[in-house]
Amino acid sequence: RVGPPAAGLLKQPPTGRPRVAVLLPLPFPGPFDYAAPPDLPAPPLQPGDIVTVPLGRRTETGVVWDPERNLPPEFTPPPMKSVADGRLKPVIARLDQPPLPASLRRFVDWVAAYTLSPPGLVLAMALRTGTAAQAAPALGWAVADPPPGLRDTPARRRVLDIAAHDGPLTAAELARRAGVGTSVVRGLADAGALRGVTMTPRPAFVRPDPDHCPPALDGEQAESARALRALAAEGGFSVTLLEGVTGSGKTEIYMEAIAACLARGKQVMVLLPEIALSSQWTGRFARRFGAEPALWHSDLGPRLRRVTWHAVADGTARVVVGARSALFLPFAELGLIIVDEEHETAFKQEDGVTYHARDMAVVRARMDRAPVVLVSATPSLETLANVGAGRYRHLVLTARHGGATMPEVRTIDMRAHPPERGLFLSPVLTEAIRQAIGRGEQGMLFLNRRGYAPLTLCRTCGHRLQCPNCTAWLVEHRARQILTCHHCGYQEATPPACPECHAESSLTPIGPGVERITEEARATFPDARILVMASDTLPGPAATADAVARIARREIDLVIGTQIVAKGWHFPHLTLVGVVDADLGLGGGDLRAAERTVQLLHQVAGRAGRAEAPGTVLLQSYTPDHPVMLALVSGDFESFMRQEAEQRRPGFWPPFGRLAALIVSADTPEAADATARALGQAAPRGDSLQVLGPAPAPLAILRGRHRRRLLLRTRREVAVQPLLRQWLDRVTPERGARIDIDIDPVSF
Ligand code: ADP
Ligand code: ZN
Repeated sequence: RVGPPAAGLLKQPPTGRPRVAVLLPLPFPGPFDYAAPPDLPAPPLQPGDIVTVPLGRRTETGVVWDPERNLPPEFTPPPMKSVADGRLKPVIARLDQPPLPASLRRFVDWVAAYTLSPPGLVLAMALRTGTAAQAAPALGWAVADPPPGLRDTPARRRVLDIAAHDGPLTAAELARRAGVGTSVVRGLADAGALRGVTMTPRPAFVRPDPDHCPPALDGEQAESARALRALAAEGGFSVTLLEGVTGSGKTEIYMEAIAACLARGKQVMVLLPEIALSSQWTGRFARRFGAEPALWHSDLGPRLRRVTWHAVADGTARVVVGARSALFLPFAELGLIIVDEEHETAFKQEDGVTYHARDMAVVRARMDRAPVVLVSATPSLETLANVGAGRYRHLVLTARHGGATMPEVRTIDMRAHPPERGLFLSPVLTEAIRQAIGRGEQGMLFLNRRGYAPLTLCRTCGHRLQCPNCTAWLVEHRARQILTCHHCGYQEATPPACPECHAESSLTPIGPGVERITEEARATFPDARILVMASDTLPGPAATADAVARIARREIDLVIGTQIVAKGWHFPHLTLVGVVDADLGLGGGDLRAAERTVQLLHQVAGRAGRAEAPGTVLLQSYTPDHPVMLALVSGDFESFMRQEAEQRRPGFWPPFGRLAALIVSADTPEAADATARALGQAAPRGDSLQVLGPAPAPLAILRGRHRRRLLLRTRREVAVQPLLRQWLDRVTPERGARIDIDIDPVSF
C-alpha cells in the first residue's frame, strides 16, 4: 500500500495507468501512490490538485504531490516501499478546489523535514479548513434596535456586544464566544434584540487602496520606509530587521512596505503573536488603506475560515493578518511577509508539529521569493546574530514619534521599601499610582500570573495543593472558587479544610496573582475605576477589543493585567506602569530567561507615556543590581544583548550553535526512564556535538505523563536532522512511551 515518494508522477508504467503520489493529512511518513482514474475529465491530474482517495475502507481528501521533493540532501526523507502497479487503487475524484500552490507544497515538505514531522501532519495545517465542500448558507444573527424593556443581564450583554462587533454569527458561534448557552441567543432573538440574516456565503474582501491615506513620515522614518518600499516593490527574497523603540512608528513604516507590495499587485501576510491584538491593528490598517484586512486565527468560525481560505487562494484577499497558522495559507501570489514582535515566544508552536513561526516565515518567504520584515523593539538574539553575520538587513529607528519621550524606568528596591505585611505593592508604587490617577492620567499594574495565588499551603501540616496530573501547584482562582492547574486544566472546588490533615480554615494563599493584586488595589484605591485584563477574564477578541476601547476612552483609571497588557497597545493617557514582580521570570535554570524578561518588561514599559505626557515605569525587584534591571533602567539593550551573546558563544549555545530537545513521555516513570536511558546510550558522539541528559523535563509530569529530556547541542555547521533520524532509528521506545522532537526549543 505504501508507494515511493512519487517516483515518476504521471509516468506511464509499462503495464498500467499513470501513477500519482497523493499526500494525505495523516501521520504517514510520506505520500502514497495511486492510479490516475481512467475516466477523469481533462486536464490530467497535476501536483497540487485536491483529490479524494480510498484508504482502507475510508475515503480521504489529499493533495496530488510533487515527484521531486526539492529538499536539501540532508533533509531528504528515506524512500518508501513501492507498490506494484497492479495493486494500485485509483484516485476517486478531483475536487472543485483551487490547487495547492507549488511554493506552499515545497514549504510543507520543508517544514516537515526540518521539524522531523510526518509531512501529512504539516499538510493538515494547510488544509484544516478550505477543503470541505461548501455548506448551504446559514442563518446568522446581528443586533437589531433594542426593543423597549429588554431584560438586561451580563450574559445577554456579552452576546449583544459580540454580535455588534463581529456579527452576523450563527447562534452556536455567538453562544460559544459569549460563553453562554444557545438559549440566551434564542431568548434575545425572540425578544427582537437580534435579527436573523442569511449569511452571505463569502464576505466582501474589499481591496485595500495603497494610496488611501499615507502618513507624513519624519526624517528617520522616511528613510526606513523608503528602504522597505524599495524591497517590496522589487520583490525577491530578503530578510530585514526593523528595529525601533516602542512608539517610534515601526507599524506606520511597515504599512508603507505593504502599500508598495499592494501597488505591485501582490498579496501580503502579516503575523502577529497574539491575535487579540488585532482590533487596534485592523482599525489602523483600515484607516491607512480604506479597507479591512482578512483575519486568520483559531477563533474564526468554520464558515469564515473556509471562505477566507478560498479568498486567499484565488487572490481576492490581498492582505491577511493572522496568528502563526496563517503561514500555511495557500497564497496565490505572496509578495511580502511581516512578522511583528518577532521576539515573542508565542510564535513557537509547542503542540503537534513544533515550529517557530518567525523562522518558518523566513523559509516561506524564500520559497515565494518575497521579502520578509521582522519587527521588534527588542529583537531576539537569533535575529541579531543573523544581522551581525550579514545575513539580514537592519533598519533602526532611534526616537519615539512626535516628540514623545521614552518612559523613565526606575527600580524599587523591595528590601528598602517593603510592602505592608500580607500585601505586595510597595508604598513607593502606590504613591506613584495615586499621583498619576490624581492628575487624571492612567496607571497600569503588570503581573504575569493569572489567578489569586500561585500556591496554596496548609498552615497546620505544611501540605501544598498539587495537581494530580502534573508537577505543578494548583492555582487558586478565588472569584470562581476553584483551584486549577494552568498546565492541564484540572479543576476542583476550593476545599474548606486541608485535604491532608483536615484542619479547618488552615489553607493559606502564598504569593500573588493578578486577582490578589486587584483585591489589594481595590482596597488601596477605593475610588479608582479598575479593569482587569487577563486571558481568563477576557474570553475572546471581542471582549479584549472592548476592554481596550474603554481604556482609550478614559473610562478606566487603573489597568491590572497579565502579559496580555504588554502587547502593542497604544494607550495615550497611560503614564505610569508598575511591574509587581520584575524578578519573576528570572528563576529556573533557563539560559534564555534573562533575554525573555528584558523583552517582556521592555514591552510592558513601552505602554507608558506614548503621547504628550511623559511616562514612568517602576520595577519592584529584590535584585535591582541584576543585569536585566540595569538594562531596563538604562535602556541600553545593545550592551545587554552583547553580554548575553558572549555568555552563549563559548558553549555554542543558540544562536551560535544548534539545539534540539528530545522529550520522552510515558505512562510510567519506569518506561520514561528506560526509554530515556536507551536514548542516552544510543546518542551520537563527536567533536562538534554534545548530548545533555537524560534529565527530568521542565514539567517532569504533565497530564499524567512522565517526562524526561535530552538536549542535542551542535555547532552551527552540523545538520541535526539526519543525526536525529539515525539516532531515533537506533532506539525502540518502551511500551506506552513516545519520543517527541523539538528543534530549536525556546527554553533551554
Ligand atoms: P511602534 O510600532 O514602533 O510602536 P507605531 O507605529 O505604533 O510605533 O507609532 C506610535 C504612534 O505614533 C501611533 O499612534 C502612530 O499612529 C503614531 N505615528 C508614528 N509615526 C507617525 C507619523 N509619521 N505620522 C503620524 N502619526 C505617527
Ligand atoms: Zn495539571
